[in-house]
Amino acid sequence: MTSRRARDSSTSGDRPDRLFAGYIFDLDGTLYLGDELLPGARQLIDALRSLDRKILFLSNNPTKSADDYALKLTRLGIPAAPAQVLNTVDTMTSWLLRHHPDATVFPIGEPPLKQALIQAGLKISEDPTEIDIVIASYDRTFEYRKLQIAFDAIRTYGRARLVTTNPDRFCPLPGGHGEPDAAAVIGAIEGCTGTRCEQNTGKPDPYMLEAALNRLQLTASECIMIGDRLMTDIRMAIDAGMHSALVLTGETTRELLRAAHPAEHPTWVLNRVDDVLPDAVRSARA
Ligand SMILES: [Mg+2]
Repeated sequence: MTSRRARDSSTSGDRPDRLFAGYIFDLDGTLYLGDELLPGARQLIDALRSLDRKILFLSNNPTKSADDYALKLTRLGIPAAPAQVLNTVDTMTSWLLRHHPDATVFPIGEPPLKQALIQAGLKISEDPTEIDIVIASYDRTFEYRKLQIAFDAIRTYGRARLVTTNPDRFCPLPGGHGEPDAAAVIGAIEGCTGTRCEQNTGKPDPYMLEAALNRLQLTASECIMIGDRLMTDIRMAIDAGMHSALVLTGETTRELLRAAHPAEHPTWVLNRVDDVLPDAVRSARA
């Protein structure tokens, strides 16, 4: 269903001609940029809620908890409960509980990730002789000491595996700025140990989508993924044979889209996020 070429709402007036049971939204660059809602975001969420559509807010960023995101969305004008938010703090915790509940883990990450792991009953350690899993994450306190612990656990003692919360190279900030994300930590550890990161629990990994669909209690064919990044938001949807909409309000420009392989194109390209509503619904609400 995603093999057809993406159609562009700015040139053809085309957009989805149907409603979906579930709407999975990326956050930064899709519904807001930094601390400001993007045009149409609040009206879109209001409309979908009045139409009884299920909504999930999805983020790869593990430096905040679902509670933090729910508070931020609510403060910006989109009331949200923590259960409507899924991020890589949740998915890493659930993945470990499912696949490695007895593992001793060393999270290179920020407090929300560590707190969630501890609350879930997982054992955390900085002792490389007992670490089974090193979690490379988005950590703005990353330092040589942490790299040494990961190095010893993986290479010196040959016992630990490397996984990550998310593969993003950088986190975009307002004004065209950004800061190094988890890929920087993965790269440092892979570089000195020669090992490869075995598992990602964020977009575009199918585990993230499985967790999202599980939360919504819907199937991929009943949902649409809306996001601003080709290599995470859109890639994940394409891999699952799911409809997707790329919004041009974040990372992806028309030039980047043109340079991307057609197999990486979304089902629809939208100038603004509320273009995801079918024309019939928009005119009925006008
Ligand atoms: Mg984004």
